[in-house]
Amino acid sequence: MAQIQGLAAHAAGAELLSFRYDPGKLAAHEVEIAITHCGICHSDLHLIANDWGISQYPFIPGHEIIGKVSAVGSEVKSLEVGQRVGLGWQSNSCGHCEWCLTGRENLCPESEGTCVHRNGGYADRVRANARFVVPIPDALDSEHAAPLLCAGITVYNPLRINGINPSSRVGVVGIGGLGHLAIQFARVFGAEVTAFSTSPAKEEEARALGAHHFINSLESKAMKETVGALDFVLTTVNADQDWGAYLQALRPNGTLWFVGVPPKPVSVQAFPLISGLRTIGGSPVGSPSRLREMLDVAARHGVKATTELFPMAKANEAIEKVKKSKVRYRAVLAN
Ligand code: NAP
Ligand code: ZN
Repeated sequence: MAQIQGLAAHAAGAELLSFRYDPGKLAAHEVEIAITHCGICHSDLHLIANDWGISQYPFIPGHEIIGKVSAVGSEVKSLEVGQRVGLGWQSNSCGHCEWCLTGRENLCPESEGTCVHRNGGYADRVRANARFVVPIPDALDSEHAAPLLCAGITVYNPLRINGINPSSRVGVVGIGGLGHLAIQFARVFGAEVTAFSTSPAKEEEARALGAHHFINSLESKAMKETVGALDFVLTTVNADQDWGAYLQALRPNGTLWFVGVPPKPVSVQAFPLISGLRTIGGSPVGSPSRLREMLDVAARHGVKATTELFPMAKANEAIEKVKKSKVRYRAVLAN
């Protein structure tokens, strides 16, 4: 097989440089994808910087991938060469544990990330176990669908897990790549949606995406108005916040759910949890079957990412813009 051409960080926080590697023989259960589009998730930035202490260099980021199947392993029956497909955060799992056998592969202890100890999607091609490669519905164009592969499933799954429905009052904290899709999905689920943002300039767009209410989370007066107003608060921010204020925003039986990764431990008082039967939770992406379901829902209900397109060669420029929180709302690299 020909070498794969990618862009890799060679040290924590370094600029990406051109990097080639030999992928070896295609394994029996693997698929190779010729990449057309790859979104830039904030997790890529965490991994480039080694914020989580798990990065290995040279490191090729990228896990919001769309492309065409360019080769299939000898045992692959589900996909064909030429088919348009997507690949998200997860590339493999053991296939035989309790979690894999019950369709919850995203909880497999041996789960492999597409760009954790593997080479990701800022490249011309990528490989994964066929079980994690999903067809893209025709109604979704690749640029606007690529961010669904990680950001989309990450916010869709908790809405499904927590039974969000037309009676639910949902808060979305942080209107970035994940948050702007969370607003859209919560609206599709019929919920009343409140967007919490530190960027008042995003109000008009947040409302256009489906938010009924917009709260500037830096204003304590506005935050006080949300006390006891919500059933479910989904936080997508990668920064430390006053989590106590979001617990206060919950009605009895409400849930504060983390998908964004703040740097410091989350510290809250136990009393609001105890007195109002409130809970705190979190979730990693979603299973392949949930991913297929999410793509189908997005196609049928018109959920799509707002994107800024960059040529793959300009990945460093795009990353700088994401770092400065200047992208509305997802940067996508194209080959
Ligand atoms: P993003 O596009 O950069 O958006 C993050 C948003 O957080 C920003 O748009 C901003 O929204 C808000 N924010 C940023 N800095 C802030 C600060 N200092 N104080 C308050 N708010 C701040 O990032 P993303 O791609 O959506 O990813 C968000 C987080 O989710 C990252 O930590 C990422 O690693 C994590 N993630 C988790 C999973 C999972 O499986 N659980 C999957 C994907 C990503 P406002 O301007 O509206 O305040
Ligand atoms: Zn991601």
